[in-house]
Amino acid sequence: MAFVEPGVTAEVVDAVRSGFRNAFGRVADVVGRAPGRVNLIGEHTDYNAGLCLPVALPHATCAAVARRDDDRVRIASGQEPRPWEGDLGSIGPGHPAGWASYAAGVLWALREGGHDVPGLDIYVDGTVPLGAGLSSSAALECSVAVAVAHLVGLEPTDAVLRELAAACVRAETEVAGAPTGGMDQTVSLFARPHCALLIDFDEHTSRSVELDLAPAGLSLLVTDTRVAHALSDGSYAARRTDCEQAAAWLGVASLRHADLDGVERIDDERIRRRARHVVSEISRVGLAVAAIEAADWAQVGRLFEQSHASMRDDFEISCPELDTAVSTAVDAGAVGARMTGGGFGGSSVAVVTEERVDAVVRAIDARFAAQGFRSPRHLRAVPSAAAGVVLR
Ligand code: ADP
Ligand code: MG
Repeated sequence: MAFVEPGVTAEVVDAVRSGFRNAFGRVADVVGRAPGRVNLIGEHTDYNAGLCLPVALPHATCAAVARRDDDRVRIASGQEPRPWEGDLGSIGPGHPAGWASYAAGVLWALREGGHDVPGLDIYVDGTVPLGAGLSSSAALECSVAVAVAHLVGLEPTDAVLRELAAACVRAETEVAGAPTGGMDQTVSLFARPHCALLIDFDEHTSRSVELDLAPAGLSLLVTDTRVAHALSDGSYAARRTDCEQAAAWLGVASLRHADLDGVERIDDERIRRRARHVVSEISRVGLAVAAIEAADWAQVGRLFEQSHASMRDDFEISCPELDTAVSTAVDAGAVGARMTGGGFGGSSVAVVTEERVDAVVRAIDARFAAQGFRSPRHLRAVPSAAAGVVLR
């Protein structure tokens, strides 16, 4: 059984501070900390002006940052061997390439937003698995964003946090060149402990939904299939295009404003299935919130099952490893399970009674071994707090 532990915050912060000292030979001014996330339900709904319901993980990325007297930027990571160094003014769409673009892109986006960002040294480290569909990219962006916001004197009001979320989205889409709909950055900056965050991408609002798992004896178990999801290989963009075509065919601004009767009249079979996923998934998010608020976990389980089937059959973003993780979890007694994140690999999420967690993990490990899949990793998704700065 391989579990990815979140680490103790004080120890992770100490590690990032000493990593900073080793990399740059000086002391960091401030540390920003931002969580990864797991989405409970509502997949590929963000760019369709829909709803989603993510939870912030206890696993987070920390960014230790110090101001420089010149316009240079140096960025290093405990997860990547190659640091990046360049001029502040050289950062922009497509530059730098590679992992540093997510961090450098935030500096560019904040400058584009009119903020006076100085030259900086940045060192990042953390416990969010990279490329597992748990949003290490947004954790990286948001950890840098909150640290830099603090350095330039921005108070973390709701308006400022919304601005930071938008800057992080711009960093990822425009500088890193990776498509993202905004869910990851929003939950990393707005989550509350013990809660999921209901995000409405039509009204651009979010609200916390209490997630009383522990009193019900339940846990959220995440399984990383270790199948790298490559969002940039065109499949994500192809799904977006299908959704735009569906909305155009239906004559609505977005699929948020479509209904299933209309969707069934779409003549193109593939476009019809894509739209059916999005429209039914948005309604499942609303139903899941009602079920969670009523502590009706059996209903949550049914919605997870329907959501997974919709992603597998209609949206076609699952893969054998995800299907195996989900069906094995349910067979081993999970209340419900589904793939989570953008798809084509990444992770699954299951609601499991505390006493069944071990049995579910063992069953998934055994089934993966029998199928010849890579050994999966698991983590407990205790609903955690949003990003912030750690002073000291
Ligand atoms: P996910 O967000 O699901 O983890 P993405 O493909 O969106 O997957 O983002 C993963 C990428 O983000 C990594 O390949 C790397 O380029 C960058 N990244 C995330 N966290 C870190 C980190 N701690 N150090 C360096 N790069 C990171
Ligand atoms: Mg990501």
